[in-house]
Amino acid sequence: MANIIDGKAIAAEIREEISSGVASLKEKNITPGLAVVLVGDDPASRVYVTMKEKACAQTGIFSDEHKLSAETSEEELLSLIAQLNNDERIDGILVQLPLPDHIDESKILDAISPTKDVDGFHPYNVGRLATGTPLFQPCTPYGVMKMLEKTGVDLTGKEVVVVGRSNIVGKPVALMCLAQHATVTLCHSRTADLPAKVRQADVVIAAVGRPEMIKGDWIKEGAVVIDVGVNRVGEKKLVGDVDFAAAGERASAITPVPGGVGPMTITMLLYNTLESAKRRGNS
Ligand code: NDP
Repeated sequence: MANIIDGKAIAAEIREEISSGVASLKEKNITPGLAVVLVGDDPASRVYVTMKEKACAQTGIFSDEHKLSAETSEEELLSLIAQLNNDERIDGILVQLPLPDHIDESKILDAISPTKDVDGFHPYNVGRLATGTPLFQPCTPYGVMKMLEKTGVDLTGKEVVVVGRSNIVGKPVALMCLAQHATVTLCHSRTADLPAKVRQADVVIAAVGRPEMIKGDWIKEGAVVIDVGVNRVGEKKLVGDVDFAAAGERASAITPVPGGVGPMTITMLLYNTLESAKRRGNS
């Protein structure tokens, strides 16, 4: 039976490190600040924003909330972003997605200063990641990398198979694994013979969004399995993209859902905000 990679425990450990990093900066009169912008009243987005505010409060980060009505125009939002770009108290700007249909999402993300882009979605930061000189790395894939590091997995020379090629998870995590000297295969919905690809993997990273699609017998004996997927089945149950019970029989280590990658995302947002504030301290 595989070891369970406990995302909650790893996230708690990193949050402790963040709290002490924040405390040291405060001694130099720098309080890390995160601006969180929410447009409209999508219930899931509200929950995420509240979780982010709480996490800031717990670690001593100043959180500057901007809750705007669904009718906010693109120009108004752009002018708020410009204001936050110039606000010296703010080290990170996060615009909660999705935005209402009348607002061009990429225009907004492109307007965030790359030096405050704690989500790592600005093309500048995507380019920095792709060229192996990252500034801000996107939070969920960065969380995956921290989990691998804290679990003691050395990726050098390993076969990593990533399933899913989205801009927010699959593509960036593939680039991060490449930077750690893994040999990376990036799979997607048109990949031929996906089970055969996954069977080659020393490390499987699943980011698909299909409940338990990756079967236990696709997993090589001793592989490490990181399941980013979060899928609701029925009223209350959450499952990942991997058949956890069957994969756990063959893997050496596996993340559960929930309690795996999930708690890492906000943690890495705080981490990126702290790193940004440290750069402010050094500038
Ligand atoms: P997207 O829907 O943007 O991307 C899904 C990817 O999976 C696409 O690249 C798609 O391929 C691929 N795919 C779909 N069906 C198949 C298939 N049958 N075989 C192989 N590949 C397939 O999803 P995200 O990357 O945004 O999210 C993935 C999962 O991770 C979701 O469950 C999401 O909820 C979860 N998630 C969790 C987070 C967290 O824990 N904090 C944060 C972000 C996401 P193609 O490109 O060809 O269409």
